[in-house]
Amino acid sequence: MSEEAFVTLATSDSYAKGAMVLGQSLRNHHTNRKLVALVGPHVTDCCIEALNTIFDEVCVVNVLDSGDTANLALMKRPDLGVTLTKLHCWTLTQYSKCVFMDADTMVLSNIDELYEREELSAAPDPGWPDCFNSGVFVFRPSNETHDKLLTFCSENGSFDGGDQGVLNSYFSTWATADISKHLPFIYNLSSIAIYSYLPAFKQYGHNAKVVHFLGQVKPWSYSYDTKKGEVKGSVSQQSAHMHPDYLLLWWQLYTKSVAPLLK
Ligand code: UDP
Ligand code: MN
Repeated sequence: MSEEAFVTLATSDSYAKGAMVLGQSLRNHHTNRKLVALVGPHVTDCCIEALNTIFDEVCVVNVLDSGDTANLALMKRPDLGVTLTKLHCWTLTQYSKCVFMDADTMVLSNIDELYEREELSAAPDPGWPDCFNSGVFVFRPSNETHDKLLTFCSENGSFDGGDQGVLNSYFSTWATADISKHLPFIYNLSSIAIYSYLPAFKQYGHNAKVVHFLGQVKPWSYSYDTKKGEVKGSVSQQSAHMHPDYLLLWWQLYTKSVAPLLK
């Protein structure tokens, strides 16, 4: 039986820090699956070294020299660079099944039970629940699927400019075909959802297994006062809807386990 892995992506040092917190959160909750980080060519050596101490495998991905279909797709759609890098996760065929997680997610408990699910399983998007959110999804690596996704991408583009649009158009029966492919919302809880339905969060929020810092402002956009143990400097009033407890948890993990690796 071949192995299974959690996969994330970082194309910059900032997202790499997010990936480190995610990886460490998976370790802290004793996953017995492998951890894989895909990194873009601009991530610096210092971050790659730190990623290597947390992840089992760090793959530097340059979609520009990763095959004809990818090149063709990029030539037609230069705007889809990060998206194509994310789709690269389908080429990890040394694994039989994987769970992709955005670098701006963090786990609050063990989620290895997700490997009982099939491709493509994901949780609803809080903005349009007939679409899945592509921050957390179960997939089966396959070069054939990868090629089909790239062809689809170069021919149709993405209705939202990112990977979520492409994946929802490609896996277009997700909303209606098979309820077992709908992950419970607790596997991809975003701050936006917390504030749009606060009573539901109060009722069910304690069950959350994965938090997703979806949106423009990320945890690493803030700073942290290590002496006081406080998150500082809300970047703008707009960002006030990031849940303070989860933000603090992210920074505590970062300070304890990630920052020391970057010295
Ligand atoms: N990402 C990246 N570099 C970027 C933008 C995105 O590596 O410049 C990766 C990263 O894994 C990130 C994911 O793509 O978590 C999706 O982007 P993001 O989380 O910013 O989108 P959102 O969840 O806010 O819609
Ligand atoms: Mn995200």
